[in-house]
Amino acid sequence: MSNKYGDIDYVFKVVLIGDSAVGKSQLLARFARNEFSADSKATIGVEFQTKTLVIDQKMCKAQIWDTAGQERYRAVTSAYYRGAVGAMLVFDITKRPTFDHMTRWLEELRGHADKNIVIMLIGNKSDLAHTRAVPVEDAQEFAERENLCFMETSALEATNVESAFLTALTEIYRIIG
Ligand code: GDP
Ligand code: MG
Repeated sequence: MSNKYGDIDYVFKVVLIGDSAVGKSQLLARFARNEFSADSKATIGVEFQTKTLVIDQKMCKAQIWDTAGQERYRAVTSAYYRGAVGAMLVFDITKRPTFDHMTRWLEELRGHADKNIVIMLIGNKSDLAHTRAVPVEDAQEFAERENLCFMETSALEATNVESAFLTALTEIYRIIG
């Protein structure tokens, strides 16, 4: 089928949110390009990367937006959230405050985004489980209470990264595809 996107049937905008240094940019690098960088500098400039995948025999282009080092409270502008059909809410399992801040990120997201947005809670850096500060049960409980999908990932070891994005994108497809 031909449309304004060429062979693409759907474009899904997904935003990454969460505190600075939790691994958002590396999750995106891993998913979009299968890359990881240990000394990633703070992201400069609003940026997105795309990855096209087939869901239910349809070509779906995921357009995944990364914050421009705007992780301070309320610094992310509404333009960032506009049109988003999915959000990856990322914390670092070794840094308790990054998990505690999920409440206000969620609040901000729900204030800006469409009410049908698919939200995935991500506990990143699962390779550092020996210095874990967030028990998996705490995150599961929070996800259940807030009606979110939840997964632990490691951008470093490429654990569950593909799976987390695929789960979110498949759910998005199910809702709006
Ligand atoms: P952002 O500010 O949320 O975009 O975080 P970055 O993606 O820039 O990552 C911050 C730091 O955490 C960098 O030094 C990354 O190399 C590191 N990092 C990101 N993901 C992981 C991971 O899964 N495991 C480990 N051990 N380090 C990670
Ligand atoms: Mg970043």
